[in-house]
Amino acid sequence: MAKTIQAIRGMNDCLPDVSGIWQQVESTLRQVVASYGYQEIRTPIVESTELFKRSIGEVTDIVEKEMYTFEDRNGDNLTLRPEGTASCVRAGNEHGLLYNQQQRLWYMGPMFRHERPQKGRYRQFHQFGVETYGLDGPDIDIEVIMLSARLWKAFGISNHVRLEINSLGSNEARQAYREALIAFLKSRADQLDDDSKRRLESNPLRVLDSKNPDVQKALEGAPSLLDHLDDASAQHFSQLCERLRQAGIEYEVNPRLVRGLDYYNRTVFEWVTDSLGAQGTVCAGGRYDGLVEQLGGKSTPAVGFAMGMERLVLLLTTLDAQTQHNASADVYVTALGDEAAVYAMAVSEQLRDALPQTRITMHCGGGNMKKQLKRADKTGARVALLIGEEEAQNKQVTIKPLRGQQEQVTIALAEVPGSLATMME
Ligand code: ATP
Ligand code: MG
Repeated sequence: MAKTIQAIRGMNDCLPDVSGIWQQVESTLRQVVASYGYQEIRTPIVESTELFKRSIGEVTDIVEKEMYTFEDRNGDNLTLRPEGTASCVRAGNEHGLLYNQQQRLWYMGPMFRHERPQKGRYRQFHQFGVETYGLDGPDIDIEVIMLSARLWKAFGISNHVRLEINSLGSNEARQAYREALIAFLKSRADQLDDDSKRRLESNPLRVLDSKNPDVQKALEGAPSLLDHLDDASAQHFSQLCERLRQAGIEYEVNPRLVRGLDYYNRTVFEWVTDSLGAQGTVCAGGRYDGLVEQLGGKSTPAVGFAMGMERLVLLLTTLDAQTQHNASADVYVTALGDEAAVYAMAVSEQLRDALPQTRITMHCGGGNMKKQLKRADKTGARVALLIGEEEAQNKQVTIKPLRGQQEQVTIALAEVPGSLATMME
């Protein structure tokens, strides 16, 4: 027998048992962003390596060790995108979408990082993100955070995620903080791991982002970014906090929240859950006012976030917040006997015309009623239609609810769409 070929480690197939929940998640995301007037942008999966080096930063986990980088047949240095923001800015600059304009954009698609695969961490994963351009006040920061809060509401998981926020201040303020942090880290150098020691000089803020519990412990008592903010950033941050309170959005200020990418300034935030173990950040974002210019455009303020869709799906399935994702059908049509089978097929077609949103599966392959109902149950359908010779002759249908306590009823065919529509609500 020939050797079977397997998927690349950390890259998942999305099989029919979960593709239904992915479709639902995608459609809810689309619907919520549309309700805020955001428009979709789609960019290529492959970009010049230079784009990510210049935006994400050379001394970051992503660029140092996670990128899928290769030379193509022309000798060009290319990278599978590890995130969406850099591409979005590249496209915006290239097509003149950003300067002196206001844009509210969203994207969704696969990202690639060569990480150690584990629950909630993969090498091909999917992000849904929003990016806004041309707005520099805290009002748009709030909008973006409120939009993310509405997503949790739409998925019924608001009680399982919490918001952490921080401000990174201006680049100059961060420079001053940097000195204070380096001095502190040097005093604890013996408690740092190799990565952190190396970053102590090159990119000390990254040390705050370390996932190593020992390093986190060593950071206790570290100077706080919030004590080093410039006046304008401090004001921006206090307005943000105030407005979040007014909007009834609970948050926690986490002075060590710095994010793993270099381009952020001022507002940063994360939505964290305790239900997924170590991979608890479901959504992360912030303001990146310098990036457009850094990538060759004219200075344009920007704020956005990216959500890890695998983590969201994991959270939904862990919490079972929505039921019957796996169902492939809403209605399962059974038939006993040849005459009934012909009638049942016609009934199914009529129902698909009348109820285009309802998934109707017609039993195929014959067998007794017990066998057919077993199939019906397997599809996850909520209702079975029982059609025998009698129903066929009288142009009737017997409706049998498969979940709950309702009795089965036999009604005229004309009444079936109305009756099913009510049951599906
Ligand atoms: P983490 O701290 O978990 O490594 P990150 O800071 O690298 O995350 P971002 O680059 O900000 O993450 O990406 C935004 C979101 O994308 C994360 O909060 C997470 O939900 C998701 N994400 C990032 N990397 C992965 C991955 N390898 N597999 C699955 N989801 C991921
Ligand atoms: Mg990471």
